[in-house]
Amino acid sequence: MTTEVDTIEVRLAGLQPIEVANRLPRLRASFDAAQIDALIVSAPANIRYLTGFTGSAGIVVVTAEDFFLISDGRYREQAADQIARSGAGARVQISSTAQRDLIVSAVGESRRVGLEAEHITWSTQRRYESEWFAGRLLIPTVGLVEGLRRVKEPAELVRIELAAEIADAALAKMRPRLLERPTEMEFARELDMTMRTLGATRPSFETIVASGPNGARPHARPSSRSIEFGDLVVIDFGAVIDGYCSDMTRTIAVGDVSPTAQRMLDVVTRAQAAGVAAVRPGVAAREVDAVCRSVIEHAGWADAFSHGTGHGVGLDIHEAPGVGSTSDATLVIGDVVTVEPGVYLPEHGGVRVEDTVVVTAEGCRPLTHSTKDPTLTTRPRPA
Ligand code: ZN
Ligand code: ZN
Repeated sequence: MTTEVDTIEVRLAGLQPIEVANRLPRLRASFDAAQIDALIVSAPANIRYLTGFTGSAGIVVVTAEDFFLISDGRYREQAADQIARSGAGARVQISSTAQRDLIVSAVGESRRVGLEAEHITWSTQRRYESEWFAGRLLIPTVGLVEGLRRVKEPAELVRIELAAEIADAALAKMRPRLLERPTEMEFARELDMTMRTLGATRPSFETIVASGPNGARPHARPSSRSIEFGDLVVIDFGAVIDGYCSDMTRTIAVGDVSPTAQRMLDVVTRAQAAGVAAVRPGVAAREVDAVCRSVIEHAGWADAFSHGTGHGVGLDIHEAPGVGSTSDATLVIGDVVTVEPGVYLPEHGGVRVEDTVVVTAEGCRPLTHSTKDPTLTTRPRPA
């Protein structure tokens, strides 16, 4: 267990490899419903989840009795080492020239071979069907491993929480810098560097710093625009720790902002708090979306909230469950989701506030903790 007095550094050093052995039986238990005898896993995050292997090239084959990780010569040692540390129990097979033979022989006698429909290319599927697995049934599957990944284990939560803490600490350090008129790109670069200095492997996605009018575009890329007094600045970013992502948005008012900007801040902050308050086990994800949306609708800005309320976070920055008006997910204990309503007005810029929370028996617990007070006080600048 960690305590508050531990520094991020000490806790990073103390991370033990995640035990993954319990995941394979849970995956196999889904085979009957999916009507498959074997599954070829091709998504890197799914491969990592099942085996602990982090290389960029690999294929996992799971049959009723067998479990293989197939990779190439570059990963011979890494694969063996990571499989040993994770306790996955997969048989590692390495070849740079005969991967086809390894994959086909790993599938063995299995008749119905599942592919990850959302991750395999059309050309690979066609090659499998006409050449590698001619005469067998190729079955498209969706979300078999992703379904297992939804509910986070304690060791996964520790990592997401640490990533979130690094993001919190980085923003606290960098906040005053906004008063020095950096460009969006400069601020984004320095924020990323601060997260890395604090121990992040990398940012969990390309950091968004969108100031003034740029804020009206929810996914604006940092530009060479200088951040000015009177701007709203939307900062959406996260860190990766041992493969796990964090995600947080804060909107900061640099100096005095317009009354409309102030009202946008108030409304979005209230909508976000209402959304977080609605997160609990058993609630429909789309209900969380509806709660956020109704606050913004009441303020008269229904059309200005142009995206879903949130998404799951884990090995991928966007994963199951989606939290939007069309989501059919019901939240369960251990889901890690974001709540991130926003209002975007071309003449005034944008406001988005986002926390990552974990669903608990009582409701939810936020993992991101940066202050939501948007005010950044001006200080006299030299003439
Ligand atoms: Zn975000
Ligand atoms: Zn997000």
